[in-house]
Amino acid sequence: MTGITKTYGSGEATVHALSGVELTIERGDYVAIMGASGSGKSTLMNIIGCLDVASSGRYLLDGIDVRRLAERQLSLIRNRKIGFVFQSFNLIPRTTALLNVELPMAYAGVAAHERRERAEEALERVGLADRVHHQPSELSGGQQQRVALARAIVTRPVLLLADEPTGALDSRSSAEVLALFDELAAGGRTVVMITHEDEVAQHAKRILRFSDGHIVADDRQVPVGAPPPRWRTGAPA
Ligand code: ADP
Ligand code: MG
Repeated sequence: MTGITKTYGSGEATVHALSGVELTIERGDYVAIMGASGSGKSTLMNIIGCLDVASSGRYLLDGIDVRRLAERQLSLIRNRKIGFVFQSFNLIPRTTALLNVELPMAYAGVAAHERRERAEEALERVGLADRVHHQPSELSGGQQQRVALARAIVTRPVLLLADEPTGALDSRSSAEVLALFDELAAGGRTVVMITHEDEVAQHAKRILRFSDGHIVADDRQVPVGAPPPRWRTGAPA
């Protein structure tokens, strides 16, 4: 991103949600975005995820200049390249976990038998093999978020975006969800996660701090959830 701005409204009511964001996120990075409420975090995430477009500036997603794309192409890009996880899970009610996870593949035109197989695999990966036929209302918050995570990764996106993914969870469920993010990041998936909790941000390799639509700090750190180094586990190199 270079010179990314986003304004809402006009005249007296103009809000400068983002004012000149310069940002490069490399493939495989694990980034936490922090900042006060209203500082522009969600606006940035929506632009990164092609749910919204910038007012000005340039944004390349995986080398593609998204500004040139029509809405139809944007939704294709979202479906193919990006997995989303939201604070409020956003699962489809009265629909089983399995069908929730299958849905993005239906849009992508994956054959029915393969959808089923991959959805089961993804649910197994998040530890919900025994809950595939449950509906969201029959699952705990932590389990619902794990279904949402399975839905986000089932299309094998290059980028996983999460807006306060643990914001509605108790500490035990948060830890379970974070362990999954850590695992995905360790496996090479690019993860960008918004959070206002320091303990959550400690899981990332990089912390971006936002204030008034700007990045005011960009720090690298050793993530807390990283697997122990090989010299400690004795695993072969
Ligand atoms: P954060 O996620 O950091 O809390 P947001 O990105 O949601 O912040 O919002 C940044 C600023 O933009 C806030 O002042 C917010 O009120 C404003 N804003 C966000 N979305 C809209 C919208 N759809 N219309 C008008 N103003 C908006
Ligand atoms: Mg927000």
